Amino acid sequence: MRFDVVTIFPAMFGPVFQQGVIGRAIERGVVELHAHDLREHTHDRHRQVDDMPFGGGPGMVMKPEPVIEAVESLRAANPGPVILMEPWGERLDQQLAAKLAQEPGLIIVCGRYEGVDDRVRSALGAREISIGDYVLSGGEIPAMVLIDATARLVPGVVGDPGSLAQDSFADEMTGWPQFTRPAEYRGMTVPDVLLSGDHARIKQWRRQQAAQRRAHTKELKKT
Ligand code: SAH
Repeated sequence: MRFDVVTIFPAMFGPVFQQGVIGRAIERGVVELHAHDLREHTHDRHRQVDDMPFGGGPGMVMKPEPVIEAVESLRAANPGPVILMEPWGERLDQQLAAKLAQEPGLIIVCGRYEGVDDRVRSALGAREISIGDYVLSGGEIPAMVLIDATARLVPGVVGDPGSLAQDSFADEMTGWPQFTRPAEYRGMTVPDVLLSGDHARIKQWRRQQAAQRRAHTKELKKT
């Protein structure tokens, strides 16, 4: 799967995706990630990517031409959908990540300032995606979240597919408490059931624990 990102800060993406599971997938060529400098698609001496909002108001808005031309220049290499990171967009969740992982690629546009000229969305038929109901200063971190969540669902990225199936949200089940060695540390022990070797009991215990956690999180949300 191929990810192309359009951003004014392409250098942010290198360090984040050099390491870990996604880093190895990129090394092996299972995933491709290219971050493109939006300023390469400006036509003026100052390489300006923003301008004042029509109708007034504070801040600046990203100009449509560089973004649209940047995406057009990628079209031949990446046939996937165009995604615009926006706080009011469709909320990213595991289900959406799984759907996007079936695409041959994604072209992701990162906004900055007060957002992107709306003609970008309409001209490119872009799908707006949000990573949550809060406002960040740019679309780069949201794009990284989207890339990570999607790339790890691409076949061959995560070594043991079983670990994807047991991930939180893969079914209605959120994560259960995990333990590894040592079995005792500073007097803190691992639940006996996990040492029992009784797989049916372990499964049941994990289900119970996961349900308790979900209920607890719901309670926290109410307060
Ligand atoms: N003034 C705008 C916020 C712009 S934030 C508003 O009130 O909605 C600048 C850019 O950061 C956005 O264009 C978008 O690309 C990105 N961004 C900020 N928060 C985000 C979120 N929760 N999800 C996805 N992208 C986000």
